[in-house]
Amino acid sequence: MLSYRHGFHAGNHADVLKHVVLLRLLRHMKRKDKPLLFVDTHAGAGSYALDSGFAAKNAEFESGIARLWQRADLPEVVADYVAAVRTLNPDGMLQRYPGSPRIAADALRATDHLRLYELHSTESALLQQEFSEAGRRVRVDAGDGFAGLAAVLPPLSRRGLVLIDPSYEVGTDYRAVLTALRGGLERFATGTYVVWYPMLARREAQELPARLVRAAGTDYLHVALQVQAPSPERFGLHGSGLVVVNPPWKSAEEIGAVMPFLTEALAQDAAARYVFDVRET
Ligand code: SAM
Repeated sequence: MLSYRHGFHAGNHADVLKHVVLLRLLRHMKRKDKPLLFVDTHAGAGSYALDSGFAAKNAEFESGIARLWQRADLPEVVADYVAAVRTLNPDGMLQRYPGSPRIAADALRATDHLRLYELHSTESALLQQEFSEAGRRVRVDAGDGFAGLAAVLPPLSRRGLVLIDPSYEVGTDYRAVLTALRGGLERFATGTYVVWYPMLARREAQELPARLVRAAGTDYLHVALQVQAPSPERFGLHGSGLVVVNPPWKSAEEIGAVMPFLTEALAQDAAARYVFDVRET
């Protein structure tokens, strides 16, 4: 049984990094006329209250999105992301945070499609509700995103972005993301894939980025943000990273340019640092 609820972590440093990168990639992909398919294999609830419930309890957003909320010196790429969060908070108070499906739905066009998978029954019901008025453009599946991916690739338009964002609550996720990435690339080699991973003391987590890069076998961007030194008790998330396969042209450059700013803004101690590694052929 799944116990992870993303609401506890909504808007934290890992969400900031993931959603800055996701939005930038989507902005680039929209520059071509052809319709896009966005697939979120682990979609979550779609959006989250920050002033009540799970998020208020942990208040992880205070060391994430809240640190950017009032800053007047945001680089354009980060300002664009904060503006996306502002659309859910029109009165200027930070009370709600958009998950990846909401960020994508708001960024994409009427001709683009979203396919969202969420296995947790409570979360998938919330996700259905979030998109109850979206019509045929958005399809929510209350099922396993790893299993569902094969059925939707390649998209008819041959343009698509796949976000693979498990919680790694179950140890099999470390292997499953690799299998999903390899399977996706076999079916749809030119697709853009974004795989999120946690920075943890756990060996599988530390080995995952290099494995993802090897599985990519083509152009990639590896970006990661460590916000604090690993804890001596070997417990907890000290950062996160993303491996993007087939990043759109020039998107890696734009993301790399804001990493020093994000590192400074989200640092929790002097061990804060970032990784930026690109292969473009
Ligand atoms: N992508 C979301 C975002 O950025 O806003 C956050 C997703 S959260 C990290 C991971 C979600 O995956 C959880 O809501 C969990 O219930 C769900 N989940 C776990 N295993 C799954 C699976 N095999 N297929 C689909 N969803 C799954």
